[in-house]
Amino acid sequence: MFKSIKWRLTAIFFSVTAVFLFLLGFYLMNAMEQYLYDRTQEKLVSYAKLLADNLKDDFARGVGPEYFDAYAHDAQKDISARVTVIDAKGQVLGDSVADKDSMVNHYKRPEIQKALNKETGKAIRYSSSTGKRMIYFAVPINKDYDIYGVVRVAVPWTEIEAGQKQIRWSIGTAIFVALVLTVVVVSSFTSTLVVPLQEMTWVAKEMADGKLDLNVNIKAKDEIGALGSGFNYMAQRLRDTISQITEERNKVSAILTSMNDGVIAIDRKGNILLINPAIERMFHIKYENSLGKSVIEVVRNFDLERLLHLALSSSEPITRELQVFTPEPKTFRVSTAPLTNETGVVGVVAVMRDITAFREVERMKTDFVANVSHELRTPLTSIKGFVETLLDGALQEPETARHFLEIINDEADRLNRLIGDLLSLSRIEAKQGEIHKTFVDLEKLISNVVSVLSPQANEKSLTLNIDIKKPLPTLQVDSDLIGQLMINLVDNAIKYTPKGGRIDITAFRVKNGIKVAVKDTGIGIPWDSIPRLFERFYRVDKARSREMGGTGLGLAIVKHILEVHGGTIDVDSRVGRGSNFTIFLPSDGR
Ligand code: ADP
Repeated sequence: MFKSIKWRLTAIFFSVTAVFLFLLGFYLMNAMEQYLYDRTQEKLVSYAKLLADNLKDDFARGVGPEYFDAYAHDAQKDISARVTVIDAKGQVLGDSVADKDSMVNHYKRPEIQKALNKETGKAIRYSSSTGKRMIYFAVPINKDYDIYGVVRVAVPWTEIEAGQKQIRWSIGTAIFVALVLTVVVVSSFTSTLVVPLQEMTWVAKEMADGKLDLNVNIKAKDEIGALGSGFNYMAQRLRDTISQITEERNKVSAILTSMNDGVIAIDRKGNILLINPAIERMFHIKYENSLGKSVIEVVRNFDLERLLHLALSSSEPITRELQVFTPEPKTFRVSTAPLTNETGVVGVVAVMRDITAFREVERMKTDFVANVSHELRTPLTSIKGFVETLLDGALQEPETARHFLEIINDEADRLNRLIGDLLSLSRIEAKQGEIHKTFVDLEKLISNVVSVLSPQANEKSLTLNIDIKKPLPTLQVDSDLIGQLMINLVDNAIKYTPKGGRIDITAFRVKNGIKVAVKDTGIGIPWDSIPRLFERFYRVDKARSREMGGTGLGLAIVKHILEVHGGTIDVDSRVGRGSNFTIFLPSDGR
């Protein structure tokens, strides 16, 4: 209960007031009791003196004792106090309460002694005649120097006590009422202090729980009001700061989310603090399952783990290339940077860029240059060999010279084809996305291709059959490129189909486009070669391809042409039975 300021303040005020009131009450009580006592004494003494004054003449006259007894009884009625008349020898002459004759001599009583000495006597003691504790006042009855006796007035001590009780009760009640009022007033005053504090405490707790849009409603103009305004100002600043931080965090989070590069942050112990969606995708892991775990547990790559720990200990940026199984083998360029605060390095953040494709392109470029050099060198070596032979004297033999020149011509043609194919390939690659599309009549295009190639087909007695399943949707393509694609496919079919075979070119509508199949009854392709057919310079049988005048680039060109058109190709082939190349070209929907 006393944890609250309200009750603490109330208790303090209550205690101070109580001590003060009790001291005051004690002092007042004493003073008032004394006053009451003094007043009673004064009153009784003056009564006694009055009675003594009346009685002195009666004594002088020498009246009998009966008179004094009657007088005592009458006097009691007037002054409401016991009255006793005693002669100078201590003999009781009259008493308003007791029987005078049964009363003993009072000469030795202290108050009587004093009165006989012409002083005012006073005594408090138990009275056997009244059965009560009494207070007595005695004064002399005298005329000049003659003392006739003593008149004594007495009241029960309980009468004084009753007055004292009355005083105590009144003061006690006043103290009690004052204390109750203190509690009420102080607690209601402290409420005006405490209620705003309680409101501020509540708002602060709510704010800590994330409800930032709260304010305290304190209208007072005093220090509490100033505290309330200060609190509201602080809350506003807090809201602004938090919204700034949130905005910053959202920006960082948006950047991290949209990044293609993976980001991993680890703490000083090497446990994951953060990963971005790119890392989730790369390693097929989940953010929630990774936090707080070690890198090795989550990514399962020792090189990465080692690199991150090295980065932690070196506190310098490091960049390395790593092979990581994700589970597919991939090459990453990992750049680390230390995370620092005022205490030093608290972790490391690593950015992982997947450079697998980049490295693959580099490898392909190198391979390509090597392949091209090799492909060019073969006919050139042959040409140079025959030219040297001719120069060495073969020119003198017209038959041989002619044969050699024919070979040189064939090799030059091959060089020409090779360079032509390389040029087409680089042209198509350069064209990516900006080809010249027109509406093309596919049937016409196919028959043109066939008429160009039919002399070769006829030479090998091949049956060339065209089957167009109408209606075909309209096609918007680059007619030169699609013409070249068809030539390459049909040319291959002719090249790799032995004499007397058959070639079927079929075009038909499919969902969202057209399919064209070039099917032959040729030598077929082994299944393990099919995935590599579209690589540059790949040939199942190099010698046969060369013999047929092939460059190994025909299908690579086909693939590129399809890529720029958003098409696909499918190969179905069996060795010795024939092959079926089916292309798909998307139509514009009409
Ligand atoms: P090439 O100039 O050697 O024909 P291509 O790129 O056109 O080069 O074809 C690559 C290889 O694919 C060829 O060398 C050949 O081995 C194989 N090939 C292509 N088309 C056919 C086909 N219709 N029948 C059998 N093999 C084929």
